[in-house]
Amino acid sequence: MLMEEERKLVAEYGRKMSTDGLARGTAGNISIYNPELGLMAISPSGLGYFDTTPEDVCVCDLDGKVADGTRKPSSEHGLHAAFYKEKAAHGCLAIVHTHSDYATTLACMGEPIRAVHYVIATAGTNEIPICGYTTFGTPELAEMAVKACTHGNAVLLANHGLVAFGKDLKKAYNIAGNMESLAKTQWQCMCAGKMNVLTKEQIDAVLVRFQTYGQTTSKPGELKGY
Ligand code: 13P
Ligand code: ZN
Repeated sequence: MLMEEERKLVAEYGRKMSTDGLARGTAGNISIYNPELGLMAISPSGLGYFDTTPEDVCVCDLDGKVADGTRKPSSEHGLHAAFYKEKAAHGCLAIVHTHSDYATTLACMGEPIRAVHYVIATAGTNEIPICGYTTFGTPELAEMAVKACTHGNAVLLANHGLVAFGKDLKKAYNIAGNMESLAKTQWQCMCAGKMNVLTKEQIDAVLVRFQTYGQTTSKPGELKGY
């Protein structure tokens, strides 16, 4: 089976996305890109995460041509491909797309995720931008999302959800989870009518602090965090 390890991971993280409350039904999708093969392993379209086996995960190229697997790839395969093409220099090798509740709430309000908590630094930025609305699964959405993602490892899709990426699936998944938690905090601050937003300088200092956080030391620019 082509890209067996990646397909196992995509199936595993799909289940995790459901149990962690980041996905309801078949909303959202996950992929891992293998640059040597020029292929991505991507969740199948409209198949429940608990019904998805590694064999159900599709392997396709960045033009959406299926190289292995019998299922139809996620309707957002073009969006995933656009990020792998345009964000390669930013270490984009895995993507998690969610319709998680609070990130989606802000996306429906047209509000970027702001630095109300320093955890935003786990996405390598002090603000998660938002792109405009267009129909899911279209090349227009893929283009708009990549264009709007000018900084950091995540972007909100208006009236839709969140896209997070990283150098591996664990990183991308953690960013998606952290941004959901942060969006909840921001929403609560908005409801309470008071919000202190950290400055870019304060977030830059967190990025430096993260380099030596935990058990390993990372290089400048290499994302670290929770
Ligand atoms: P798929 O089931 O085709 O991956 O679509 C879900 C989704 O989130 C579309 O934006
Ligand atoms: Zn979606």
